[in-house]
Amino acid sequence: MSKITLKNIEKSFNKIKVLNNINFEVPEGKVVSLLGPSGCGKTTTLKIIAGLIKADNGEIFLGDKDITDVPVEKRGAVIVFQDYLLFPHLNIEENIGFGLKMARIPKKEINIQVERMLELVQLKGYNKKYPNELSGGQQQRVALARALAIEPKVLLLDEPFSNLDTKLREDMREFTLEIQRKLNITTILVTHDKEEALMSSDKIAIMLNGEIKQFGTPEELYERPTSIEVADFFGEKNYIGGMVENNMFISDICNLPVEMEDIKKAKAMIKPENIKMYPEGTTGLTGIVASSKYAGERVYYTVLIKGKELKIISQNSKIYKVGESIDIDIEGIKIFKGK
Ligand code: ATP
Repeated sequence: MSKITLKNIEKSFNKIKVLNNINFEVPEGKVVSLLGPSGCGKTTTLKIIAGLIKADNGEIFLGDKDITDVPVEKRGAVIVFQDYLLFPHLNIEENIGFGLKMARIPKKEINIQVERMLELVQLKGYNKKYPNELSGGQQQRVALARALAIEPKVLLLDEPFSNLDTKLREDMREFTLEIQRKLNITTILVTHDKEEALMSSDKIAIMLNGEIKQFGTPEELYERPTSIEVADFFGEKNYIGGMVENNMFISDICNLPVEMEDIKKAKAMIKPENIKMYPEGTTGLTGIVASSKYAGERVYYTVLIKGKELKIISQNSKIYKVGESIDIDIEGIKIFKGK
């Protein structure tokens, strides 16, 4: 069993708490992303799982085994970092075989494993080349091969693709996940890229300020955030203050049906893509286009409705001009309690 479980992990640096009560589980063979802004504690969490730094409190389990105090080399977890740090003076086969050599595996077995790994990352025949003779993407594949050569139970990826340009990043991500699925290796991916997390993960842990704010499937997090912080992390939203009475959200801007108990002070969250624009006279909820930014597939608008500015992302081919009167329709809201 190579399920990973973190229980109540806490960590401070110089008396400043950077991780608080971290709890989550990665089922065997699954991918969990740690997603959050810079400095929220993602890398620290990963290093604690790898055994590179020690938590102040809490426990880590690999399957049913408590590995909290197990040294790095015996944990069965490897990290691949963003700056993949191949050894420049070692050729590709020596780089890939490095961990095996350290573990005193016989040369013959190392050679067999290196060949398997070169085939896995599609670099057969590159044995004698040096890292500086390879492209960024190829070097990243060597780094992955080096990590996988020791047959770890857990793969820890720390923003491994962020040094690569957009197209290569997507290819490498797909490539890595294919290998992950093939080997059924339990994986944690650290990223600050929400799209990367949404596309790559079975589950996502949203980290903000050293805490996990929500843990769930990509769809759960995106569609049903449990807090405004999590909702905002996935992109700018509109918020309208009001109240809920008799299954109706009531505000100065509009009234919308909802199915929930009465709330005196409520905040409706509306995603910019859930507001649709129509010619004036269509819905009766009329506003004026205050700004528009054309971005090819989409147009980003702000629209003034009864003095309130609403952000709208439109994929409609009809383009509205600044100053034009338009009608809107709101196609989905989420209510949070409080002002
Ligand atoms: P990034 O995406 O920028 O890598 P992160 O979410 O991975 O950020 P961490 O690297 O885990 O964040 O850092 C979390 C906090 O802990 C930061 O405030 C950082 O400055 C602090 N920190 C990390 N390592 C140390 C250390 N060795 N000594 C002191 N403070 C540290």
